[in-house]
Amino acid sequence: MKYVYEFAEGSRDMADLLGGKGAGLAEMTRLGLPVPPGFTVTTEACKVYLATGEEPPELGVEAAGALAGLERAMGRTLGAPDDPLLVSVRSGARFSMPGMMETILDIGLNDQSVIGLAKSSGQERFARDSYRRLIQMFGRTVMGVDGDLFEQAIAAHKTKRHVRDDHDLDTAELSVITEEFKDIIRREAGEDFPQDPADQLSRAIRAVFDSWNGERARVYRHREHIPEDLGTAVNVQAMVFGNLGADSGTGVAFTRDPATGESGMYGDYLPDAQGEDVVAGVRDALPLSELKALDPRAYVELGDHLRRLEDHYRDLCDVEFTVEHGKLWILQTRVGKRTAEAAFRIAHDLRDDGTITADEALARVDGTELTRLMFPRFDTQATDLPLAHGVPASPGAAVGAVVFDSAEAVRRAAAGEQVVLVRRETTPDDLPGMIAAQAVLTSRGGKTSHAAVVARGMGKVCVCGAEALAVDPVARRFTTEAGVVVHAGDTVSVDGTAGTVHLGALPLTESDVGRALETGTSTGAVTEAVLGALAHADSVRRLEVRANADTPEDAVRARALGAEGIGLCRTEHMFLGERRALVEAMILARDATAREAALAALLPLQRADFTGILEAMDGLPVTIRLIDPPLHEFLPDRTELAVRLASATHPDLHDRELLDAVERMHEQNPMLGLRGVRLGLAVPGLMAMQVRAIAEAVADRLRDGGRPHAEVMIPLVGTVEELRLARTETERVLAEVEAETGTSLDLPIGTMIELPRAALTAGRIAEAADFFSFGTNDLTQTTWGMSRDDAEASFFPLYLEKGVFGVSPFETIDREGVGRLVEMAVVAGRAVNSRLETGVCGEHGGDPDSIHFFHLAGLDYVSCSPFRVPAARLEAGRAAL
Ligand code: PEP
Ligand code: MG
Repeated sequence: MKYVYEFAEGSRDMADLLGGKGAGLAEMTRLGLPVPPGFTVTTEACKVYLATGEEPPELGVEAAGALAGLERAMGRTLGAPDDPLLVSVRSGARFSMPGMMETILDIGLNDQSVIGLAKSSGQERFARDSYRRLIQMFGRTVMGVDGDLFEQAIAAHKTKRHVRDDHDLDTAELSVITEEFKDIIRREAGEDFPQDPADQLSRAIRAVFDSWNGERARVYRHREHIPEDLGTAVNVQAMVFGNLGADSGTGVAFTRDPATGESGMYGDYLPDAQGEDVVAGVRDALPLSELKALDPRAYVELGDHLRRLEDHYRDLCDVEFTVEHGKLWILQTRVGKRTAEAAFRIAHDLRDDGTITADEALARVDGTELTRLMFPRFDTQATDLPLAHGVPASPGAAVGAVVFDSAEAVRRAAAGEQVVLVRRETTPDDLPGMIAAQAVLTSRGGKTSHAAVVARGMGKVCVCGAEALAVDPVARRFTTEAGVVVHAGDTVSVDGTAGTVHLGALPLTESDVGRALETGTSTGAVTEAVLGALAHADSVRRLEVRANADTPEDAVRARALGAEGIGLCRTEHMFLGERRALVEAMILARDATAREAALAALLPLQRADFTGILEAMDGLPVTIRLIDPPLHEFLPDRTELAVRLASATHPDLHDRELLDAVERMHEQNPMLGLRGVRLGLAVPGLMAMQVRAIAEAVADRLRDGGRPHAEVMIPLVGTVEELRLARTETERVLAEVEAETGTSLDLPIGTMIELPRAALTAGRIAEAADFFSFGTNDLTQTTWGMSRDDAEASFFPLYLEKGVFGVSPFETIDREGVGRLVEMAVVAGRAVNSRLETGVCGEHGGDPDSIHFFHLAGLDYVSCSPFRVPAARLEAGRAAL
């Protein structure tokens, strides 16, 4: 196997092997863009290293060969004492993990070559500063020295010289710092900073491999669902310098605005600086447009390259670039990350101008982004003045208590609080806090700073570079220009769309997209783009999308959002509130007469519920599930009741009866107890009352000229015998109501599949079912033997961390286990009943990844919460591409 590829040997299709960055560099090299030459060590080499602790034996020879080629191309030798070639060593995994792994620059400098570099560049200070940077980076990332020790040493020199910026330290000072750095390394690492350039290079490559398993990288992969075993490639590239004076600089540019999707080149530029200064947001960058005045030739050339890249990749691209003495170099490109707004808008615009097809445009957006756009924003009418303005780095609106460090954000969020993480600038170490927070606010850095890039990727609200804020993390407060002091724990509102931060909790208003989806009126480019994508999804999808709704209001809302029926109406939700007393009466009934009276009182109420829902969904299917959960859920808490009785001077007779009932019905494990079909069979008259309410509601609707399509669904069936009994009872009541009303009631009768036994015997069950609806919440619970109510809060965090699963099986369908049962049951059921209708109504019905699975499994529909319906339509469309 070949472990090293020169840039010219690769291409963009080789991202698995070369990583995203390596593939991009290879592709740009092929396109003839000005890329500093270099080579990529493959992800395969990394995998071998991670698995065995040793590099593959061939790597050394191959890398030496590629380095020799690089030296020939540059006409210089790595670390040579006179005019040294220097290289950068950067990570580059298959999927972008910005700032999560290591980069080491200026490899090749040592006590000799630093003098050579000073001579060849004519800039002593630059050479000394580069050497200082190398020792610092190498010491921290390769030799494991605490980075703060270097920072403290520099800070001490700055204080001594009364200067604020690294830039203001002179050559002599830098030489002293360099020696101090070497001492720190000797003391901390127990060895000297290596002087041999080849040794530096091979150790740097290994450090990048190791950084794949660093804490930050692992946290990021979990968050982004990136597989653990991909490994990273390593790119070794000739250094070019943006810090050689006013005619040099570095920046990041996008072919379109990654926040709004607006077309036209966009980005940041930092004169006289190296790349990491921009990404870290350490110094405040200029808008890219200023490069036009500073270096018109480089600006025009950059514009040409960006257009070329966008035409080639047919998508938003971003690049990192460096200008070295007026010569433009492109150091990296990739298809750029973007906000949800931008994703829809760019896909729409590219489709509009014929660059991509409607299918491609649909593939480039997703349901998670759509859901994000549907959520509320701050009321723009709000008149209160913001505390500060910053860069609108990632849109949306969030309210929370101010926290100043990542650990506190995690702690308070875990306690259920909404927090806003406030930092001067973020580093990858802040990642857990960023995940935990509702929003991120920084006082430094631009749209391409770490905070901005990471928050955007997560869809988290972010305002960065709010420079008027003086953030003091030690005193845990920030102060505004006007002198307002905001302490940890105070509530602020962060508007990532406007780039503002406000004191207190601002009122939120609905999003345009949310409104447009319900009313059909479009108000802007993004909404237009969303509606366009949905329209195409609707035209290509095979899966129907229904909603889980239990009230006429929810049904109306769901229908407006595009639901094509109700896949699950949970009737027990109708027994709550004031009706609880009636349910209590039914449970407490001493004899059949009392029970029948209680059921009779419930009947008209249930009928009215069903009539309302059938009216809201006129013409569309409404799957009504008979009561499912254990009856004692409708009774008061056993302990509370016992305490009340014990402490009452005159114990209430009703309470006494209630406690008896609660105790009689108590089960150790109610989720596996008297619920679902078992309950319907065990409580005389209960099922009949519910079926009668449905049947009479249908008859009423028919009489009023409606087109009701009710379906009766029996929950928690484990064997066909249960379903047969329930079916017989249902048909008996339907026949009664038919006779009474003179209407023909041909209601489908089906069952939920939510027990492994039901899935395994689906062929038998289908003999008595007109439809199957997979209750994947219970099916997951019973297949895994994990409580859906407790597991997620108890051991799931551990399981997720240990990689037992990448995502909760209650959130995304476990294809291998639960999914397999679904597939088997569909096949077995259809073999017996070719007209069997199949759907899913567990939470997975609204989960993007699961929807793709249900499409593949051949289900007829998914059913989910109303607000997830648009995203489900979109994903069902994407699944069909
Ligand atoms: C299910 O179990 O997936 C389901 C939809 O039913 P419920 O969530 O009401 O138990
Ligand atoms: Mg269930």
